[in-house]
Amino acid sequence: MDELADIPPGFRDDIESILIPEARLQARLSELAAEVDRDYAGRDLLLVGVLKGAIFVMADLARRLTLSTAMDFMAVSSYGASTSSSGVVRILKDLDTEIEGRDVLIIEDIVDSGLTLDYLTKNLRSRRPASVEILSLLTKPSRREVDLPVKYVGFEVPDVFVVGYGLDFAERYRSLRDIVTLRPEVYGS
Ligand code: 5GP
Ligand code: MG
Ligand code: MG
Repeated sequence: MDELADIPPGFRDDIESILIPEARLQARLSELAAEVDRDYAGRDLLLVGVLKGAIFVMADLARRLTLSTAMDFMAVSSYGASTSSSGVVRILKDLDTEIEGRDVLIIEDIVDSGLTLDYLTKNLRSRRPASVEILSLLTKPSRREVDLPVKYVGFEVPDVFVVGYGLDFAERYRSLRDIVTLRPEVYGS
């Protein structure tokens, strides 16, 4: 299949289609970086990446910023079902950084129900930062269960399960450079 020619051979049989190709992702990240640069000029910005899905967004966005930013990571996990969020969030790795008085920008791969980030932003706000905002590469507006302001959005996607560019299925496919959908057989046991 021509469309999948650039997908690494080991992955190709599992991929249904490319939803957002690398070039579009990277071009959008340049636009978002310019916005962040402008909005946070003169401020003390801490980027907080949410592991593991946000690793490539973090890497590619942070390196496009011209501001001097600090970087930290959190790891969180939802209790319960694996394909959707329960809203009960466990912090597996907390920040190494004190955030009181600082401007915090959470970097995410995708906002689905919004429950994970709703919890996370409330948790971070309780530490009295100057501000807490969210940048998410992807959002699925049709799935939202809470009113969650996402200041910077890369792309709106339909209610389909996507992988690649940090997003996984059973810890696989994160290393793909594009956002893709998987063939239905891949989900079957
Ligand atoms: P939320 O709390 O917003 O429902 O959950 C967000 C998390 O669910 C994301 O950080 C991601 O780990 C996972 N998630 C939601 N939708 C997708 C998807 O389409 N593909 C993948 N790989 N993960 C998703
Ligand atoms: Mg995530
Ligand atoms: Mg995952």
